[in-house]
Amino acid sequence: MRKRILTGDRPTGKLHLGHYVGSLKNRVKLQDEYECFFIVADLHTLTTKSDSKSISEVSQNIKNLVLDYLSVGIDPKRSTIFIQSKIPEISELALIFSMLTSISRLERVPSLKEMIRDLKIESPSYGLLGYPVLQAADILIVRANLVPVGKDQESHVEVTREIARRFNGLYGEVFPETEALIGEVATLVGTDGKAKMSKSLDNCIYLSDSPETVKSKVMKMYTDPTRIHPTDPGHIEGNPVFIYHDAFNKNKGEVEELKARYKKGTVGDVEVKDKLNKALNGFLDPIREKRNKLEKNKGLVEDILAEGTKKTKEEAEKTLCLVKKTMGLDYF
Ligand code: ATP
Ligand code: MG
Repeated sequence: MRKRILTGDRPTGKLHLGHYVGSLKNRVKLQDEYECFFIVADLHTLTTKSDSKSISEVSQNIKNLVLDYLSVGIDPKRSTIFIQSKIPEISELALIFSMLTSISRLERVPSLKEMIRDLKIESPSYGLLGYPVLQAADILIVRANLVPVGKDQESHVEVTREIARRFNGLYGEVFPETEALIGEVATLVGTDGKAKMSKSLDNCIYLSDSPETVKSKVMKMYTDPTRIHPTDPGHIEGNPVFIYHDAFNKNKGEVEELKARYKKGTVGDVEVKDKLNKALNGFLDPIREKRNKLEKNKGLVEDILAEGTKKTKEEAEKTLCLVKKTMGLDYF
């Protein structure tokens, strides 16, 4: 039997280049080697966006998310895409797991600390603290072996592993010890040079951005702040423009040449950005083309989700049944 992958995204908006290098690229690559499940994690959106207006946007966000998946090459014939809230077994498993996880352990999860700081949350909800527990249930409901994610999520997969180990030790061997698979670029910087490209920081290039939008974002990108004139020697390390060149420009010779000239002060930012714009649009063109075609196919996303949800539900029922049996919760 092939090993399994589970990973996914919250339907809070469009996917960006950070999502691509952090997770999507590995998903596309591993579709044949692994049996893949991709979760549209709508319940997770409630941890930070539980107001009615945000909820009313989820359905459109789900459609865009699935279109993003398909346009980068996730193939619904080979991979299963499903909606989290349609699988109630996940919530039940999360409840069981919540008994196996201490509050102090969850309080030590770094991404939660960051989220609480960035969103200025005064008193985090029980649900927000439990985010990694719900994520463990997402992963373990299909007993996944591998989770392709960005670096920020690595600590969550660690919690998943601890829960699996604890469950197996207490009741019997049911779950694998899931590994995280971090993308080639563990965390992609934003166009503003801030550590992480993130929707909430407004520093993203989206997979569905038009060529004009990409150009304008690239031309405004943060580069080397110490460099005033094109003749000043520049810095490559940590320079977002070169990080993006490395990640997306297929012409490695061009990138090396630009780096050498940049260090010597014989190339201006405009030329470096112009070439980056061409490389990025070259990368995004086929994605846009595919998306345009898919958008015309009405009902496609709905059908894919219905089928994926049905398949996942069967797996989820099996896992939950085994969990209850192993725990001795299968009385009457
Ligand atoms: P954002 O951070 O833009 O608000 P999000 O928090 O809604 O997006 P998640 O659902 O948390 O996105 O992340 C989806 C996946 O993409 C995760 O595996 C995450 O690690 C990865 N990811 C998100 N941003 C980046 C980035 N800048 N670099 C690498 N991976 C990323
Ligand atoms: Mg995030």
